[in-house]
This record gives sequence, C-alpha cells and structure tokens, in this order.
Amino acid sequence: MKTATLRPSAGTSAGDLLFEPAPRAGVLLPLALAGAYDYKLPKGTNASRGLLVSTPLGPRDYLGVVWGAAEGAVGDNRLKEATPLEGFPALPSNLCDFVDWVAQYTLSPPGMILSMVLRSARAFDPPVLRVAYARSGVTPARVTPARERALAVADDGLARSVPGLAQEANVSSGVVRGLIECGALAETTLPEFAAFPQPDAESAAAELNAAQRAAADALIADVRAQKFAVALLDGVTGSGKTEVYFEAVAEALRRGKQVLILLPEIALTVQFLERFAARFGCRPAEWHSDLSAKERTRTYRAVMSGEAQVVVGARSSLFLPYRELGLIVVDEEHEQAYKQEDGIIYHARDMAVVRARSEKCPIVLASATPSLESYVNAVSGRYAHLKLPRRHGAAVLPETRLVDLRHEKVEAGTWLSQPLRDAIAATLAAGEQAMLFLNRRGYAPMTLCQSCGHKMTCRDCSSWLVEHRYRKRLMCHQCGYETGLPTKCPACEAEGTLIACGPGVERVAEEFAAVFPDARVAIASSDTMHGPQETQAAIRAMAKHEIDVLIGTQIVAKGHHFPQLTLVGVIDADLGGSDGDLRARERTFQLLHQVAGRAGRAEKPGLVLMQTRNPGDMVMKALASGDRDSFYEQERQYRERAAAPPFGRLAAVIVSGADSEAVVEAGKMLAKAAPAAKGVKIWGPTPAFYHLLRGMTRERLLVQAERGIDVQAYLREWLSAVKLSNKVRIAVDVDPVSFF
Ligand code: ADP
Ligand code: ZN
Repeated sequence: MKTATLRPSAGTSAGDLLFEPAPRAGVLLPLALAGAYDYKLPKGTNASRGLLVSTPLGPRDYLGVVWGAAEGAVGDNRLKEATPLEGFPALPSNLCDFVDWVAQYTLSPPGMILSMVLRSARAFDPPVLRVAYARSGVTPARVTPARERALAVADDGLARSVPGLAQEANVSSGVVRGLIECGALAETTLPEFAAFPQPDAESAAAELNAAQRAAADALIADVRAQKFAVALLDGVTGSGKTEVYFEAVAEALRRGKQVLILLPEIALTVQFLERFAARFGCRPAEWHSDLSAKERTRTYRAVMSGEAQVVVGARSSLFLPYRELGLIVVDEEHEQAYKQEDGIIYHARDMAVVRARSEKCPIVLASATPSLESYVNAVSGRYAHLKLPRRHGAAVLPETRLVDLRHEKVEAGTWLSQPLRDAIAATLAAGEQAMLFLNRRGYAPMTLCQSCGHKMTCRDCSSWLVEHRYRKRLMCHQCGYETGLPTKCPACEAEGTLIACGPGVERVAEEFAAVFPDARVAIASSDTMHGPQETQAAIRAMAKHEIDVLIGTQIVAKGHHFPQLTLVGVIDADLGGSDGDLRARERTFQLLHQVAGRAGRAEKPGLVLMQTRNPGDMVMKALASGDRDSFYEQERQYRERAAAPPFGRLAAVIVSGADSEAVVEAGKMLAKAAPAAKGVKIWGPTPAFYHLLRGMTRERLLVQAERGIDVQAYLREWLSAVKLSNKVRIAVDVDPVSFF
C-alpha cells in the first residue's frame, strides 16, 4: 500500500488517527555537530539504532545513521524526512556504542567519529551491476567455426562480457553479438567486484614449539569463549609471535568470525600479506590510505557483509563496520604510530581494546618491547601475560656491544667508528648482510652559516630545515616546506659559508660508499625521495639478498625478517634520549631493541654495535646486558613515583592560531579558568616543542590527575566555562604520547 503524505493536523486528536504519525528518530550525521538531529522517517520504518538513512541538511543530502529516539518536541510538519538506504545492512549497535564511547573519551563530536566509520563514501552508492552473457540453451540456426569456438567457451555456463568472451574464444566481438541476437547467449549480470578469496584455517599451520603451543592454546581458548579478554603476547624478537597469533586467527576462521589485524605502518604490510598467504592460502583484505577508491569500496562492502574475513590494516581499519568480529590483533602494540596526532586525536591500540570489549571478543597485543602501560597491566594480572622467552629453532638473540664514542676517535664529518667498520668488513667478507640504523632522514639535520652562526629554519615552523642532497633541497619535516640550497647565508649574506651539520641516512650512505665501494647498498626511509615504492623495493632486495647493506631510518627497525642479516650498526644510539619527555627512555629502548632484533634471526648468530656517548645510561646498560625486565621494572617505579601514566592520568590542551598574541592570551585565560579540583594539577601554558607549526603559534597546557579521576568530565567543565577568541583553536589530547 502506498502511504499518503498526509500529516496529522493540529486539530486531530491522537485517538482517531487514520494515519499514524511518521516515526521519528535522532539521526547522527558525519559532521562536527554537537549530537544527533531529529528527523522523521517514512511510515512503517523500523527505526532501530544503526539504520542508515539518506538525510537532507541544508542544500544537500548526507549519509546519516539513526542514533536514538528523537529528542525535540517539534511537530512532524517542521521535521524533514530521512529515507532509509536500500540494500545496506544497519550498522551493528555495538559499533554505534563504540562511536559514542570514543567520542566521549576523546572529547570529540560523535559525528566526527561516525565520519571515520563511514569513511568510504562511495561504498554506499547503489551497487553497479555489470552486464554479462551466458549460454541460454538455444542452439543457433547457423553455426560458423567462429561461432562454434565461442559456444565451446560459453558452454561452461559462466557469464562473460562481450569483449571477455571474444578474447577468450579468439573471435571478433561481432561474432559474440551475433550469438546474442539469435538468442544463443542470454543477458545476465555480474557483481561489481570480484569476491574476496576465503582464507583456509588448515592450509599450512606451523609445528609449534612448547612455549608457542602454550601461548597459542591460551589464545585459542579466548577465541572459543567468545568473550572480551586481553592478552599481552610478550615474546622476544624472532620468537614466533606471528605464528602464535595466526593459530588464534585460524580458530576465529573456523568459527566463521572476522579478524582484524592492526599493523603500525603500511610499510610493514607487503611482507606481512605474503606471510599471511603462505599460512592461509590467500591474502587477507587490506585497509590503509594507499588503497584506490575502487579498492576501498570493494573492501568496505566486503567487511560490512562479512565476506572479507580477515582485514589487515592501519589504525583507521579499527572503525570499519565488521559484521562479526571474533578477534583483534594489535601487532607491535608499543608503536607510537598507533597514536593519531591530528584531527581526532586517539590511540588505536587503546581504542582497539575498547572495540574488543564492545564486540565481546578477545584481543591480542603483541610486542617484544611492550608499552609500559601494557606491561604494567600484564604484570598486575589485568591482562593475560603470554611469554615467549626464546627465539624459535636454532636462532639465538644477538649480542649487543656498546661503542664508546668518547674513546673511539671518529674523524670530523664521518660517523662510522673503526670497530663498526671492522665489523662491516667481516660481515661482507662472510657473505652476510648488515643494516645501519640512523633515525634521521635526508643528508644533514641542520645547515649552519660558518660565518654568523645562522641556522636555516622553516618559514612556517620552529624547526630546522633538513638538507636532502640528492634532491638538492632543504626541507621542513614538519610541514613539507622546501626550498633550494641557497648560495649565500640569508642572514649575513656571506657567500659559500653554509655547511651541513650532523648526519642523516644519505650522509651515512655517502661515507659508507667511500669506505666500501664494492658493497651493494640501499637506503630505506620514509621521505619523498625514497618514497613507499622505493622503500618497499629496498626491503624486498634486502630480504632476497640482492643487496649487502641496508641503511635506514626507523622504517627498517620493525617487523622485518632478513635471514642473512647478522650485523646491525646503530650510528647514534643517543638520539631522542634526552629531550626530557616522559616516554623518551621507553621509546629509545623500544626502538633500539627492535633494531637490534633484526640481527641473527636465522641460524647465524647476530651482532649489534651501538655507537654512544652515554654508555653508562640506564637504557644503554639494559640494551647491552639484554636485561629487559629490569629496565621495565626501573621505569615502572620511576613512573609510579612521579604519578605518571599509567599510575596517573595526563591530558594536553593545545591552543593554536595564526595570531600569536591571541594564542598566548587564550593560554593564560585557560590556565586562570581551570577549576580547582582535588587530585588535579594544571601545568602551563608553555610554548609547545614546535612553538610554530605550519604558521600556527602553539601553546600547551597539561592536566595531571590522579588515576581515579574522570579527566574527561574535568576537561568538559573547564573548557565549556571559557569563552575564547575565535582566532584560536583548541585541541585536546587525552593520554598524550608525544609532546610536540
Ligand atoms: P616474531 O613475530 O616474534 O618476531 P616470527 O613469528 O616472525 O617472530 O618468527 C620468526 C621466524 O621464525 C619466522 O621466519 C617464522 O616463520 C619462524 N618460526 C617461528 N616459529 C616457527 C615454528 N614453530 N615453525 C617454523 N618456523 C617458525
Ligand atoms: Zn615547516
């Protein structure tokens, strides 16, 4: 029955309605609005939470989601109508709950979290069906040899496009059209996209060792129980963490559940996809920013329908509308790349735990160097602590030696000490591979005028310009600003006085090539010169032993498995150690431990040389002795004494704007307006580490609170009480991990 568009008039009493009032609902739009808006829905709509609706707002229609009951008392005649989207299932209500939770935790408008869920806008376009032709059963009156060939191919019953069949049968498309005209081929449709292959749980399981078996069994039990549980899979590099969680993935597949595997960086996915295929017989679905729009649509729909059973992706894959998640894995869970620092500021590892809770499924956090937060949770028993203390098979952990740069004289402008050069020479002579690690892109981190001392800085940021010599450019690594290398100092105008200070990977590569002219070497770093393609190529070449030495930034530190790599040289182990930030020690330890862990992963033992000026530092000592747990224990005690996370809570408020006076003023106003509360301290405002970033002045305030305090409630009360100039922007970073 077609429903009339009559609305009850003001005079109609509820009792004698011929036409029931249209249902109404609060609809959430993927926009930065305070909450859901009321809409009316077509009669007979079952307005349940999660229903996708096309929603008019202003001049256009948005994709919206029914979020809850309508709130306002506005009459139907003043409400606009939202129409349910045909052909798509509703968002699962636990996903809606997750959106609300993340919004409230990060102090973000819920619509902005929803926009991360609905990110693939084209996925909701009506599916496009492709026209195809299949054998009809009709025999053509006239059969030529060409027609015969085409029919022979089509006799398998599959549907093909006209050019597809023509090509396969080696006939002209005219022949195929002739067969259509005489009715021998009938029109049908093909889905828009090819189906995803289904991973096979039993394809090629590894024979696990005892420690691996115990860990895998614990995870499998979690998957079977189908309830929320967190496990820290804490295993040394090369202990087989991946093999272990693959067993849990297999169990989820047997139960027909979906699995999400989060990786910190796209650069890690290529090797991982191949490894997954070796275990499960096909590649999983991928989700990251490098996908084409078409691939995004295909993957998004397959995730929603449940056809994509395993998704491997970067942090944004956490917000996909899985039909039925049975397991989440966060690999390299300590990685800072899981923290999204702009737009919605959130930590994907922490939010993954929240998502697992709302999906009632287990989650595995895997790392050789867990975050201190996860370590404390595991040691205290809140998370299951699954340990793999040894490398698999014959492989042993590498020996780490410190090279004391205070005693080893290194010529000015060079960075490879004699012990490191000797070790490289020995490795090359043995036909093995080496990796040199320096966490600095480009040629030199700073360019200085020898005459006046002027340092080349970015136009828009308070950061040095980094020389990229291959490109003959100076670049800002904060905002991407670049300029040619000037011939004169811009400050004192002296000619030819600008010199490169300090090393980047390009400069180390230059020195390396001078010392070892015959070695095959490649650079892997994440900048535009050595973009993702080239980095992937370098990593693949390393894995296949097509190069001898890989020189790289942190992009080479993680996850990779190079069986012939026996020497790792750390050019400057002190980088990033002394900037006074809460996590500097933890981060340095994790990064260097990961880098070291690349050495000796197969039969041949590995050696790690770390060049340092602080051999007595607690981080250096822990790395050299291999005593990880005593490092964690010291760090834990230090944090506990300082009431720092996870023993206390932090939130940063960053004020920014183009008008520096307004920013400074707003910072002061905020500090003054901070409500007094027991157990809460406010620090600042102070200039942020990058006081100027992309032309914006930035001031920071820090909230430090005791563990039990509802920091979000405090922040909400505080920020809503202050009326700030519209020249400034406020960003809230709950649980900050960096302090830039
Ligand atoms: P991790 O993730 O802990 O660094 P991996 O899972 O990458 O360790 O394992 C290191 C290497 O050892 C890989 O090449 C892996 O295939 C191999 N390996 C680990 N466990 C086993 C096993 N039980 N049987 C065969 N090979 C294994
Ligand atoms: Zn800049």
